[in-house]
Amino acid sequence: MSDIRYDRLHDDYVIIAPERLHRPDCIPDQKTQKEETLSRCPFCEGHEAMTPPEIFALRDKGEANTPGWRTRVVPNLYKAVRIEAPWQSHARGPYDLWEGFGAHEVIVDTPRHLRRMDAWTPDERRDWLKTLRSRLVDLRKDLRLVYFSLFKNHGRYGGATQSHPHSQLIALPVVPRSLLDRIHIARHYRQTHGHSLFQGILDYEEESGDRIIASDGHCIAFCPYASQYAFEVQILARGEGIASLADLDESGIEGLADTIGKVMAALYRELGDFDFNILFNTPPMQKNIQTDEWFEEIPQFWRLGVHILPRLYNWGGFELASGMRINPVVPEEAARLLRDGK
Ligand SMILES: [Zn+2]
Repeated sequence: MSDIRYDRLHDDYVIIAPERLHRPDCIPDQKTQKEETLSRCPFCEGHEAMTPPEIFALRDKGEANTPGWRTRVVPNLYKAVRIEAPWQSHARGPYDLWEGFGAHEVIVDTPRHLRRMDAWTPDERRDWLKTLRSRLVDLRKDLRLVYFSLFKNHGRYGGATQSHPHSQLIALPVVPRSLLDRIHIARHYRQTHGHSLFQGILDYEEESGDRIIASDGHCIAFCPYASQYAFEVQILARGEGIASLADLDESGIEGLADTIGKVMAALYRELGDFDFNILFNTPPMQKNIQTDEWFEEIPQFWRLGVHILPRLYNWGGFELASGMRINPVVPEEAARLLRDGK
């Protein structure tokens, strides 16, 4: 049983989730045999009985919870939050808490355990994005779920405890401070400049070209001007009004899948096998007391973005104390390597 506790001083929430302590650590070390890891991997094809029953799957054949799938979605066995928990908040003296209500799902990206992302086919990338979109569209029908975090952890430094390629979706009844802050900045920029901040960044990056890695009719990929991570990449959708994955049509999915494919191929080429996180910057999906004032305006000031964060270095005391990162790789240099390979 988990709690979502409100920190009044920092105006932010923390999820206290003791169940997460019991997760198995299935990232193999150098000595572990790959065969041994594969035989006990709950996400491999043929091991469907090792997970809770599936919520969704893209299938070529077979019934639910049998082989024949291309992507598969199951509830996270080690949930940070539960959809069965009461949708209730309580005051506790100077504190507030929400019972641990929310959704926590695992998206198994591909049946192939050893499939590195640069080896995914265009169809595999599209299936992955379509599955994420489908879960977002389905879960936002639940009016209690406001904030949606869609992400992929890969490797130990990316926070993954399973080596099989997978993504996760966590949906909560409250919006965290960091997203509200970004929303307020993006909204204020739109009000004062007459165009969205994302469009401003997109136009400037395209004009200067120094940090661009790839670009087509659907999106552009670039190393952010103030990259916090070495070889950090941001992908932005071009279309006005495309605020989240849920707004992408089939050709938009195809365009984003192609760009992610190009970026991952370039990153693997430059970095070798590396750990990373991929984050989708999904805006709040419901009106509530936190979002009521600007909810209808979201498509005007927000834009779908995908952040790819290589986890090459750990943070030290300075980063933790100040909240500022030290990035040893110049973003223009990273972009040149990823774009040109030299
Ligand atoms: Zn596996």
